Amino acid sequence: MTKLTGSCLCGAVTFEVENEFQNFQLCHCSQCQKTTGSAHASNLFTGPKNIEWHSGVEAIVRFDLKGRGISNSFCSKCGSRVPYLSRSGETLVVPAGSLDGKPSVSPKANIFWPERAHWYDEAVLAEHYDRYIE
Ligand SMILES: [Zn+2]
Ligand SMILES: [Zn+2]
Repeated sequence: MTKLTGSCLCGAVTFEVENEFQNFQLCHCSQCQKTTGSAHASNLFTGPKNIEWHSGVEAIVRFDLKGRGISNSFCSKCGSRVPYLSRSGETLVVPAGSLDGKPSVSPKANIFWPERAHWYDEAVLAEHYDRYIE
């Protein structure tokens, strides 16, 4: 079994996860748009024991929204999302963007699709560049 390293943007939070994921979903719900500030969350799912924290656990802040079961866990210094346990405690949710390498599974589903960002259909058709443009 191989491992993938991961971190937040500022580098305070670092960890390693087993590269053995059961699922990979892109969640387009309106709550995930808020927590990510973007079009969707990119969530990998694995077992709770498959993570080893290397640093920065004390910098992690968790927020649990009442209602739909949305949670957000992030570095208090830079705001990057980091892995967290589902409320049942049975699943570890790993934000794919927090990982440095390629996960063992590719995205399987776009969930809550009807709630997708108003601009998403156009976004996937936009031109591609290898740099910032004005
Ligand atoms: Zn950070
Ligand atoms: Zn969502």
